[in-house]
Amino acid sequence: MAATKTTAPKRPAKKSAKPVRNPLAPERIAAILDILAKTYPGVVCALTHRNAWELTVATILSAQCTDVRVNLVTPALFKTFPTPKAMAAASLPEIEELIRTTGFFRNKAKNIQGAARIVTEEFGGKVPKTMDEILRLPGVARKTANVVLGSWYGIADGVVVDTHVMRLSRRLELTKQTSPQKIEQDLIKILPQDRWINFSHELIHHGRQVCIARKPRCVDCTLEKLCYSSDKTWTSHPA
Ligand code: SF4
Repeated sequence: MAATKTTAPKRPAKKSAKPVRNPLAPERIAAILDILAKTYPGVVCALTHRNAWELTVATILSAQCTDVRVNLVTPALFKTFPTPKAMAAASLPEIEELIRTTGFFRNKAKNIQGAARIVTEEFGGKVPKTMDEILRLPGVARKTANVVLGSWYGIADGVVVDTHVMRLSRRLELTKQTSPQKIEQDLIKILPQDRWINFSHELIHHGRQVCIARKPRCVDCTLEKLCYSSDKTWTSHPA
């Protein structure tokens, strides 16, 4: 007798899985950049400065300190020592006294005086325009170098990664890294170079005003629809 062919019972069709999100999809990055540019048009560095030297000093002073506090201190500092040459010749206690309220003032005074000496003796009194040269100034790491190169000279050599850029880049899933250096490398890979300078200005403003560290104001956020951060305090996304 011929064997009859048995047919296996049909399995119920699988529910269609949720589409996989790609946080780094070019169209998502473009949408984030577009929204940021429209939300913060013409945004600039919040540190008061009149030249590259003043911006360098202000950025050194801004470590562990607010820009508002730095802006209160720098007018008297630059009135007393208006040039790198004058700052190089100043005594450390004089500089310390003028910058005391910015915190870590002994270290900052030493760095500012050291930077003033190098700028005066090796660069003819002008802050250099290349990353390698500017990194030779004491107290200047990539963040300060990127601030000065980008905001004063208009040179997009990298992306400024401060505490706001770190937090927001992670919340927006532009990086999984935790160190500023690695975050900057990730951002450089995904952002068009002509947006490197303004992107950090915009993100810093967004971080100060809306995407604040403790309790982000997601309900007021223009990026909300694009954001899937676990830190969100409100969401329009369906559960
Ligand atoms: S939705 Fe919330 S967490 Fe996401 S970027 Fe906006 S403020 Fe930040």
